[in-house]
Amino acid sequence: KTGSIALEDIDSLAKTAYPLCMRQLHSALREDHHLKHGGRQQYGLFLKGIGLTMEQALKFWRTEFSKKMDGDKFEKQYAYNIRHSFGKEGKRVNYTPYSCMKIIMGTQPGPGDYHGCPFRHTDVKLLKQRLASYKIPAQGIEQIADLVKGYHYQLACTKYFELTHNIDKDEVSGLSLQHPNQYFDASMDIQS
Ligand code: SF4
Repeated sequence: KTGSIALEDIDSLAKTAYPLCMRQLHSALREDHHLKHGGRQQYGLFLKGIGLTMEQALKFWRTEFSKKMDGDKFEKQYAYNIRHSFGKEGKRVNYTPYSCMKIIMGTQPGPGDYHGCPFRHTDVKLLKQRLASYKIPAQGIEQIADLVKGYHYQLACTKYFELTHNIDKDEVSGLSLQHPNQYFDASMDIQS
């Protein structure tokens, strides 16, 4: 599937096919024209997982970052890391996108950080507000909040999937969400 996603489609995919963690990273990037290290890692590898080529990834990050910094600085400070994550620099390890478990158990986001799992790391009150702004019905928001309070983060995410794809529980029960890229692929399957 590498190369099957067009960069122009990413904004709309972020709304329709991204799990909440990646939607949060994408909108922070678009708003701030920057993401801190933890966010770049989590989102960058996810983008690689949905099929961006290295050239597309470089273009994607350069376009956004250069709204706030000059192109030279981007090349010096960030381009290397992007190539590195595609296994083209340094030890040439081909890094894999983070699983839900890795994100959930990973470093707690600090101020100005957007990485992490919103079901795990966002204050429940704020999470509920955000879900409401995404037009999730009130009853669904309560169901998600209950799952979060019971520490069932991936089930909360599955519920979010169900509500944003207008399908019922039986259809997603086979999902058993373990990975943000699995979420994306399942969404694309439904939408296609
Ligand atoms: Fe992302 Fe996984 Fe959390 Fe869903 S459960 S928001 S896919 S980390």
